[in-house]
Amino acid sequence: MDTLVEQIEMIEARLSDQMFRRITGLDSDADRIAALNAELKTLYLKLVNLVQHDEPAMDAVAQALMWRHTLSEYEEVMAGISRYLRHPTRKVGDQPVTFFNLPTFEASEDSHAMRQEVRQHLMDEATHIVDSIDGCLARQREVAAEYGRTPLDCFCRAEGLDEPTLRSLIETIGDQARPAFERLFPSYARRILGEDTPADFTDLMALCRNRDMQLCDPFVGGVNLVEVARRTIQMMGFDPERITMDVEARPAKFPSALVMAVRPPHDVRISVLPSGGFNMLCALLHELGHAVHYSSLEPNLPLWKRRPDFGTAETFSNWLEMLLEQPSYLRAVLGFNEEQVAEALGVARLRGLIIMTWRSALSLSVVDFWSGAAPDFAALEERLREYGRRFTGLEVPEGYAPLDHFARNATFNVVGFPVAYARLGHIYTQLEAGEAEWWCRPEAINELKGYMKRGRDAGFPTEWLDPEAILARYVHPNVTG
Ligand SMILES: [Zn+2]
Repeated sequence: MDTLVEQIEMIEARLSDQMFRRITGLDSDADRIAALNAELKTLYLKLVNLVQHDEPAMDAVAQALMWRHTLSEYEEVMAGISRYLRHPTRKVGDQPVTFFNLPTFEASEDSHAMRQEVRQHLMDEATHIVDSIDGCLARQREVAAEYGRTPLDCFCRAEGLDEPTLRSLIETIGDQARPAFERLFPSYARRILGEDTPADFTDLMALCRNRDMQLCDPFVGGVNLVEVARRTIQMMGFDPERITMDVEARPAKFPSALVMAVRPPHDVRISVLPSGGFNMLCALLHELGHAVHYSSLEPNLPLWKRRPDFGTAETFSNWLEMLLEQPSYLRAVLGFNEEQVAEALGVARLRGLIIMTWRSALSLSVVDFWSGAAPDFAALEERLREYGRRFTGLEVPEGYAPLDHFARNATFNVVGFPVAYARLGHIYTQLEAGEAEWWCRPEAINELKGYMKRGRDAGFPTEWLDPEAILARYVHPNVTG
């Protein structure tokens, strides 16, 4: 069995290397990717016969297999997206607006009517792909049943909670964050998108594309933000040399920062386009949070333990991203004055509230899908509209779900956020109780590094799932200085 696991790790590393090359616009080989995928599926199918049903490793193996078994259905969905989801006349630069550059369009188009019209067109076209999305999800559910565990079961076990606790955590965060979101969101929407903008779902989507962060761009003009991020993790006692940073600008490179754990902890890569303002720094810190986590994993951990579930993974990424809410960091590292600090904290608060309301709505819909409460994609979409209304007070348009990465894939990735946020309330309370500049004292974060090392079994205290601390931070903050 050991040699089999070693083989799997080696093939996974080769496949991740190819995927990293493909997404960053370097040479990659589609035939080789297909061959590696097939090889991996064969190896996992051998492995699954050797792992006992009730062994903890089985969760990680079953999750890997669910993905391997549904690759062709997933590719069919992606092919449909490429084929149908484009606007006939509207453009971003000289390219037609498609599903893939919609974020860039929404981040730059001021006219509410035009943003709404383009999204409506893509939503209308998405009716062509709804059947394939439904087919892909149905196949995932079938595979999950075959191995006797859903992503919901695996997530709960890995994160140390049960389904009722998870539901009540998400509901509390969503319900409690709504009033503060409803106060803050319209004022930012009008400030950024124009006095007469309706501050509706279309505007929420524009702010989700980080338009709010553009308010801080003038404060970081001319600063080498990639270098700032690199120096930051070094100050915290992580070794930047252990993370490969691809900062080269290439035409076909995916525009957002991303991380790939090619062979953790030894080969962890970040891709980022060095142009971009405050938003790029924020995204880069988030991905670096994942990267320092993966590169800090105990190398002797069994392979399956080096596969943290989403709640644990998002705890560390959001931890590093939240540095941009630390006044001492903003002053010392970015040289912000008091007015700039206040602007950055306001933007961060809005961002946190969007995550706590809108992502909670997405999270609960995904939980409902996997618990069986929402049996198919249409039911998932109905839940999303219901929870969206409940947590944000906004009307989610019918037919939106196919455009949403989390809803379309019913992925637990998004459920990682409310869980991570609950923990971060406690982590930040603890850090802020010490010296103000904890972020440049490696010993201040030693405890956190202990949780990082353990991978899938991070072992966070159960009390950290109590959302009171994070609600106090975002919903009723005592404005910090
Ligand atoms: Zn993340």
